[in-house]
Amino acid sequence: MIVVMKPEATQDQIEHVRDHISALGLQPQVIVGQHQTVIAAIGEERPGLVETLEPAPGVEKVLPIMAPYKRASSELKKERTVVRARSLEIGGKAIGVIAGPCSVESEEQIVSLAIKLKALGATGLRGGAYKPRTSPYSFQGHKVEGLKMLATARAETGLAIVTEVMAPEHVPVVAEYADVLQIGARNMQNYQLLTAVGDSGKPAFLKRGMSATMDEFLLAAEYILDRGNDQVILCERGVRTFEEHTRFTLPLASVPYLQAKSHLPVVVDPSHGTGKAPLVPPMARAAIAAGADGLMVEVHDDPEHAMSDGAQTITPEAFARMMAECRRVAEAVDRTF
Ligand code: PEP
Ligand code: MN
Repeated sequence: MIVVMKPEATQDQIEHVRDHISALGLQPQVIVGQHQTVIAAIGEERPGLVETLEPAPGVEKVLPIMAPYKRASSELKKERTVVRARSLEIGGKAIGVIAGPCSVESEEQIVSLAIKLKALGATGLRGGAYKPRTSPYSFQGHKVEGLKMLATARAETGLAIVTEVMAPEHVPVVAEYADVLQIGARNMQNYQLLTAVGDSGKPAFLKRGMSATMDEFLLAAEYILDRGNDQVILCERGVRTFEEHTRFTLPLASVPYLQAKSHLPVVVDPSHGTGKAPLVPPMARAAIAAGADGLMVEVHDDPEHAMSDGAQTITPEAFARMMAECRRVAEAVDRTF
């Protein structure tokens, strides 16, 4: 429910409505706009609610929030959310680029690569320390040691660290080293993890589950927002279909769709989205043309010998070319790089 206050509503009237919403067992969220204040009433919608709120002094009208997700909805918040973490800004005019290897392999690897990526225009550094692998026999990541390696790379470059957290009990340690907590596709509906990341107060990078609908994706974001953490980045990373020519199918229509339904910034991951290195730069360009607020791209000095996801990983040289091409597309759609 959104309670729209009259432009001339007094502070007392606003507080009265806020307290009334609390007394009804709903959570009030006061949003002060340029012309008028709106108060969102978040919680289970019940019949008769509009009637109880509408007569209060200073109230102009009461509107239902139609979307099942409330805090994530653009019905509630008109201005776009900008997520900021050190060097990284996603959701503003500038397009953020988070680049790095699939897995953090060694300190030498991540530091030297971070230096190159920063020089080529990356604004965030990715790298998995805790890796969700399909097989238990595959490399599972260097865990805390990997987090320390990422922190060293940040100290050398100033790049914000984006890295995955797989379990609620790991949130404190990952939050100690990372700037942005990534929730992977396989964990998009791990509600305890979403809640723990929400409580951490750190920006979250939420990847779409490989078979999640848009509503499920935005409801997953809602779990983080509902903990009072408004720093959430949505990432389209492709979904599973009958197609076999790519690892996943990358639906770029989700970019404008999500941006219409939500105020949260949207990033595209063409690496997992295609699974094939030659397809990554063209899909990165297409993502920017579609209006994406950022990219997440896997880069490695020697993709052939990468410990994970080598087939979809591009070299720093290919990344440099991709950045130059993306810069031109960004200009064409009135964004900066
Ligand atoms: C990753 O970013 O390395 C990753 C595992 O991604 P996803 O969760 O999208 O598969
Ligand atoms: Mn990967």
